[in-house]
Amino acid sequence: MKIPFNKPYCQGKELEYIKSAMDFGHISGNGIFTQKVHAFFEQRYGYKRTFMTTSCTDAFEMAVMLMDLQPGDEVIMPSFTFVSTTNPFILKGARIVFADTLPNHPNIDLDEAEKLITMKTRVLVVMHYGGVAVDMDKAVALAKKYNLVLIEDVAHAIDSYYKGKPLGSFGHFAAFSFHETKNISCGEGGLLIINDEKYIARAEIVWEKGTNRSAFSRGEVSKYEWVDVGSSFVPSEIIAAVLCAQINMIDEIQQQRILLWERYFTNLAPLAKKGYIALDDLPDYATNNGHLFYFLMKDQQSRNLLLQYLNDHAVHAVFHYLPLHKSPYYADKHDGRMLPNTQKYTDTLIRLPMFFELTPDAVDFICGIVGQFFEEKQAGYFS
Ligand SMILES: *Cc1c(COP(=O)(O)O)cnc(C)c1O
Repeated sequence: MKIPFNKPYCQGKELEYIKSAMDFGHISGNGIFTQKVHAFFEQRYGYKRTFMTTSCTDAFEMAVMLMDLQPGDEVIMPSFTFVSTTNPFILKGARIVFADTLPNHPNIDLDEAEKLITMKTRVLVVMHYGGVAVDMDKAVALAKKYNLVLIEDVAHAIDSYYKGKPLGSFGHFAAFSFHETKNISCGEGGLLIINDEKYIARAEIVWEKGTNRSAFSRGEVSKYEWVDVGSSFVPSEIIAAVLCAQINMIDEIQQQRILLWERYFTNLAPLAKKGYIALDDLPDYATNNGHLFYFLMKDQQSRNLLLQYLNDHAVHAVFHYLPLHKSPYYADKHDGRMLPNTQKYTDTLIRLPMFFELTPDAVDFICGIVGQFFEEKQAGYFS
């Protein structure tokens, strides 16, 4: 049987919680499970205010509505990220200016990003790749210096830290994803984090389709009305119930994923030492949250060969990301700059299976296949 790349984990209480939501007779949004999700993230990580959404993409759309982005405004972000980081800004007619990654890590190169700032730049988006922190002292200083809205894409970065402070607490906005490929999941779901007080009152309205329903639920107004723009960002209590079951397990889930990550790292270190593969170092200021495990090959050809070899030997491994600045949708809108580090990661990166129920034995097996590849191919492909 093939080892899958990902397997969504059900911890066992999901159905019980869904049943409770049904028994309460409240399965639309913003009931007790949604409020439990908000309380969990605000208390555990100190985020100022959180709003559960139907996806991380939606959370960014909500942020974009709140910051009143105008057509022609420029948004700087990495090209090496998922399309969800970009789309919400495009909907508002913003121009995306893609920055390269660092030479030694897939996170955005902030020195390069600074050179891209113009009078029209309104927003800086950083994405903590694999849950490994971007240098947030630098990002926050840039945002201050040029008066930019700072957004953290924390889709990979639950329960990860920069100099001891939780990721998601630095930006004016940040957004989690609870898609089934993420550490904690409810199938599809997201969370908008707002750390800047000035957006919060309006966020309640935008979240609830432009109505003051939240104030109405608290008894602050006698009827609820259409008071602003908004959209349908609130997920059902059934979704929130599933997420509640998952967050009860967060410590076990993180612990297990980090254990698997470290086992991969230890097993593959000898191959890195021989120069067959490269393993990026974790910066001193960052933690590892076991979101994904990757390594780099020398070039695209050898990467593709090893991917094929793994898949032929019952291991589902994958690559990512295809760079957004070269995508069919954006290529002719991009300003033509080459992003060589982004290209390097696109061409040479391999992600190995990583999920809660993966066993240490399976990790050993997978690493054995990688080792076997080099034994068999040693003769020709690598210097
Ligand atoms: C998964 C992911 C998203 C999108 O999450 P959705 O909840 O599917 O919208 C955004 N950014 C990154 C980096 C991701 O990995």
